[in-house]
Amino acid sequence: MGGGNWWDVLPREVYSTLDRVETGHPWYSVYRIHDWLYAILEDGQYDEALMYLVIGEERAVLVDGGTGIGRLDLLVAELTEKPVLLLLTHTHNDHIGGCSVFDEIAVFDDAMGRESASEGLGREKMGEMLEGDAVVREYPPGFDPENFYAPPYVVTRWLVDGDVVDLGGRVLEVLHTPGHSNDHVCLLDRDARYLYTGDIYYTGAVTSYLPGGDHGAFIESCRRLVGLMPFYDWLMPAHNEPLVEGGQMGEMLRAAEDIGAGRLSEYTERRSVAANYDVPVRRFQFDRFSLSVRADLFSDKAKS
Ligand SMILES: [Zn+2]
Repeated sequence: MGGGNWWDVLPREVYSTLDRVETGHPWYSVYRIHDWLYAILEDGQYDEALMYLVIGEERAVLVDGGTGIGRLDLLVAELTEKPVLLLLTHTHNDHIGGCSVFDEIAVFDDAMGRESASEGLGREKMGEMLEGDAVVREYPPGFDPENFYAPPYVVTRWLVDGDVVDLGGRVLEVLHTPGHSNDHVCLLDRDARYLYTGDIYYTGAVTSYLPGGDHGAFIESCRRLVGLMPFYDWLMPAHNEPLVEGGQMGEMLRAAEDIGAGRLSEYTERRSVAANYDVPVRRFQFDRFSLSVRADLFSDKAKS
């Protein structure tokens, strides 16, 4: 990225090819991909959280809840009258923020998801997303940065690997894909040939070092997703930009394997940016993304 500002790359090119939809919630940039599929982007905040509203004949699924800075529930109500299930790809702060105002929520069933739902996240963890130059758009009316936290939320559907979420005329297949976090899922729409990748792939700084992450599991998940390549053409990531060529999943697998095997010598050393999680990290830069892993991945290897 060099010495520029994070927002210098905005708007990303793909958005010029999509229909922009004006809504009453300008915190979010909304784009129509199909009449049944919207991309909802928080491009006023550093994480560029990207949500998807997938509308079936009976109901809709909202993939991820974003930072919680805006009122995602009210925005979604402008886009569809159908009942909405909020489905989280995982429970990190930039995905669960908007959760507690939704009636129907689906999360992968493991200890991390259970804890997220029962505890929510406090001001410290949520406030990370507001620090420094992280926010470059005016806060929505009613948002109070001093008292920003994620309240506990009620999960109405605990997901397991292989679950099918039926929207009526459209189904999403749940794939447990740990590595970025234990509770991470991707969603496969075989009919539309889309893979919703969550944080396993996006064109930005991907990580396996955060709490609940595991690089070996990350490699395994990439391998599984590459094995499913015959069933998708496009990746729908949870950050930055939608509609990335499916072949990029192969690039991510190769990157993760090369790092894991110690084959790459060019990286930058840094510290984790997460609060209360100050571990050394190595960041490896590739063409469309970077991948950061715990530095002790390599010392563990040397010991065994
Ligand atoms: Zn994320």
